Amino acid sequence: MAESKRVLLASPRGYCAGVDRAVETVERALDKHGAPVYVRKEIVHNRHVVDTLTDRGAVFVGETDEVPEGAIVVFSAHGVSPEVHRTAAQRSLKTIDATCPLVTKVHQEAKRFARDDYDIVLIGHEGHEEVEGTAGEAPEHIQLVDGPDAVDQVQVRDPERVVWLSQTTLSVDETMQTVHRLREKFPLLNDPPSDDICYATQNRQVAVKAMAPRCDLVIVVGSQNSSNSVRLVEVALQNGAKASHLVDYAREIDLAWLDGVTTVGLTSGASVPEVLVRGVIDLLAEHGFNDVETVTTAEETLTFALPRELRPARN
Ligand code: SF4
Repeated sequence: MAESKRVLLASPRGYCAGVDRAVETVERALDKHGAPVYVRKEIVHNRHVVDTLTDRGAVFVGETDEVPEGAIVVFSAHGVSPEVHRTAAQRSLKTIDATCPLVTKVHQEAKRFARDDYDIVLIGHEGHEEVEGTAGEAPEHIQLVDGPDAVDQVQVRDPERVVWLSQTTLSVDETMQTVHRLREKFPLLNDPPSDDICYATQNRQVAVKAMAPRCDLVIVVGSQNSSNSVRLVEVALQNGAKASHLVDYAREIDLAWLDGVTTVGLTSGASVPEVLVRGVIDLLAEHGFNDVETVTTAEETLTFALPRELRPARN
């Protein structure tokens, strides 16, 4: 008898506390102030979220100089440099900061180590908004390292005063390889005071690692510019999945991917609403994958309070 086709559904997956807060920030700002509400950069890196908020009256801009003087602008979950705050103030913009508190934590670490005159090696992806925001806290102290091979170029003033920090959404394993190379070069390298790769990124990677060896195919729902979603595809492939693909929507699934497949793993990045995962489950069911088993590796309960400007007034 042929083996039954099944779906392994990773848990946790999808929205993290920082994304939930950032999306709700824009929704509440629209409720409170009406459209348009300007948002600097994509509030979170997800096409569906950005399109849905655009339909409600959010206007996404690349920089604050595109926002009319005096208007409301929301800063995205990825954080901004002090320079962005300064230019917004010059234009008298009313800012609402939806930076994830776990990104703010990395900014605080960068400021502290810069104040103590350390050289800071920031592990992260060149050009990513979060990295630009963090590096902007102390540009004269921070150098970016984009993976283990970039370590050779790192130069510091004093090898006894070096610390590494990281983007929140990296691959844990690849980051540890980079740190290992850095430590070979600078044996007195200091570690961050606590993990910079956030709980949500880590939890989603652990869940994928647990199911990947059983999967012929892992589908990750997420956008191409979502760092943590792209990492999930890599983690799946590195941990035994025979194939893995990133899709924004179920309709992007190429049915040829399902040829000869018995077990499909399914997960989603931290910026992905669950409705998009449901769409993939429905499509897979139409093709005989009716048996859905959840693979749970952690329970998540963290939530973050909304930015002060949007919290209900106390009586
Ligand atoms: S992925 Fe992590 S750092 Fe980014 S918004 Fe979510 S909780 Fe915050």
